[in-house]
Amino acid sequence: MTVLDTREETDEHAAFRADARAWLEANAPRRRHDSAEFKRRVTAREDEQASVVAARDWQRRISDAGFAGISVPREYGGRGATPALDRVWRQEVVRYEIDLGVFSVALGMVVPTLLVHGTEDQKRRFIPPVLRGEEVWCQLFSEPGAGSDLAGLTTRAERDGDEWVVNGQKVWNSFAHLADWGILLARTNWDVPKHRGITYFLVDMRTPGLEARPLRQITGVAHFNETFLTDVRIPGDQVLGDVHGGWGVAQTTLMNERALIGGATALGFRDYVTLARTYDRTGDPEVRQALAATYTRYEILRWLGQRAQAAQRAGKPLGPESSVAKLAMSHHAAANGDVALAIEGAAGMLAGADAFEDGFWQQQFLGQWGIRIGGGTEQVQRNILGERVLGLPPEPRPDKTEPFRDIPKNV
Ligand SMILES: Cc1cc2nc3c(=O)[nH]c(=O)nc-3n(C[C@H](O)[C@H](O)[C@H](O)COP(=O)(O)OP(=O)(O)OC[C@H]3O[C@@H](n4cnc5c(N)ncnc54)[C@H](O)[C@@H]3O)c2cc1C
Repeated sequence: MTVLDTREETDEHAAFRADARAWLEANAPRRRHDSAEFKRRVTAREDEQASVVAARDWQRRISDAGFAGISVPREYGGRGATPALDRVWRQEVVRYEIDLGVFSVALGMVVPTLLVHGTEDQKRRFIPPVLRGEEVWCQLFSEPGAGSDLAGLTTRAERDGDEWVVNGQKVWNSFAHLADWGILLARTNWDVPKHRGITYFLVDMRTPGLEARPLRQITGVAHFNETFLTDVRIPGDQVLGDVHGGWGVAQTTLMNERALIGGATALGFRDYVTLARTYDRTGDPEVRQALAATYTRYEILRWLGQRAQAAQRAGKPLGPESSVAKLAMSHHAAANGDVALAIEGAAGMLAGADAFEDGFWQQQFLGQWGIRIGGGTEQVQRNILGERVLGLPPEPRPDKTEPFRDIPKNV
C-alpha cells in the first residue's frame, strides 16, 4: 500500500530510508503524478519478452544494491533485516517507475512460502535466484473444476520410485508461459477428505509434458494461461512440506497472495481529480460526490494497511486481515471503474486509440474483474470473514469429512 507514515520512525529506519531514497533517486525515474508511465504500460501491449528482460534487470540491480529480500535471512541472499525495514523499502520504491510485475508470484508468494515450509536445501536453492532476478515463478493451483473450491482439485500425482508423475490441467496461471518454475498442487491421496490428500510441488516449467497455453483476457492482453500436465516427472526432493500436507502449505501462499492483491494500488486519488478536471466535471455535484467517496476509500485502504502493519509489528501472523484488505480492494476497483467512466460520460464508450489516454480508463474498468476474482472472489472472502471472524455457523460440508473419492466432482 502506498502509505507514507513516518511518525514512529526510529533512527535505524530513518537512516535506511535515506539510503534507499538516495539509491532510487540515482537509479530509477520518479513516478510522475499523472501516472503516465503506468498508463503507457497498461495500454502499450508491448513486447512481453522485453518487459520480462526489463523486470529481470531491475531485480538484479536492486539485489546488487542490497535492497532485495530486505527481511529475508542473509544465508538465502536477503538483507536479514526486520519486516519494518521491508515496509520502508516498499514505501519508497512505489514512488519510482520500477515494474517488477512478472516477479510478483516469486517475490510475494513463493519466497514467503519457502521461508516457512522449505527445507534448508530448498531455501538455499530457490530463494537466491529469485532475489537476483534470475528465475520467474508462476502459480499452478486453479483448475477448470477447482477455483473457489480449490481443495476439490483433481490433478493427480503418483509416486514412481524417487519421482512423482503428474497428470491434469490447470488454468488462469499468470505468467506460466514466461515462468522458469511453478508452485503446483496435486492430489496424492484420494481415500481421505479432500484437504488431507494434496501435495505441494515445485516444478521446473521446462519439464517435458508441461505445456502452458496463453489465454486472452477481456482487456486484450494474454497474461494468463491454461496449463496441461501429461506424465510430468518431478523429483521427490521438490515436494514442499509433507507429502499429503500441501493444503497447509498452500494456506501460507494464499494468505500472502490476498495481501499482495489487497495492497496493490497503482493509481492515486489525484489521478481521478485530474480526469475530472480534464473533462471539466469538477463542478458537477454528482461527480464531486463520487470523488469524495473515492477519497474516502483511499483513506480506508490506507488505514487497513496501517492496521495490518501494526499487527505485524506486534508479531502477529497474517490472518483474516488479508481477506478484509482483498475485499476492500475489490470494492475499490469496481467503484473506481464506475467513477472514471461516469466522468468520461459518452466518451467512455470509446476504446483503444480513439479513447482518452489510449483507452487507459476503459482498460482499468475492464481490469476490475481480474482484481475481484483473482486470489479468491468477493463471495469467498465474505465466507472466510463470516466463519473465521464473525463466528457464523459454516455451511454443512460433507466434503470435509468423506473420502475425496466418494465426493461428487465438477469434472
Ligand atoms: C487475473 C487473475 C489471475 C489469476 N492468476 C492465477 C494464478 O496465477 N494461478 C492460479 O492457480 N489461479 C489464478 N487465478 C484463478 C483464481 O484464483 C480463480 O479464478 C478464483 O479462485 C475463482 O475460481 P473460479 O474462476 O474457478 O470461479 P468459481 O469458483 O467457479 O466461482 C464462480 C462464482 O461462484 C461463486 N462461488 C463459488 N463458491 C462459492 C461459495 N462457496 N459461496 C459463495 N459463492 C461462491 C464465486 O464467488 C464466483 O462468483 C487468477 C484469476 C484471475 C482473475
